[in-house]
Amino acid sequence: MAGDPRCPDCDVALEDAELFTGQGELRVRTEADGDDVLAAVGLKEALDVTPRRCPDCGLVRFYAIE
Ligand SMILES: [Zn+2]
Repeated sequence: MAGDPRCPDCDVALEDAELFTGQGELRVRTEADGDDVLAAVGLKEALDVTPRRCPDCGLVRFYAIE
């Protein structure tokens, strides 16, 4: 992640946060590239989700980093 993500409303650095689903890790699926191995077999890429929370207003943003 390039630089610390900041809250768009408060312009303060977002803090690390933990997310609990009770059913394993939360993930995001994206369309795989056409020449990707996963796309060739009809699968989509699964990305881990990293939550960040604003300490001022409580906004939570999710980042799915490749
Ligand atoms: Zn904020």
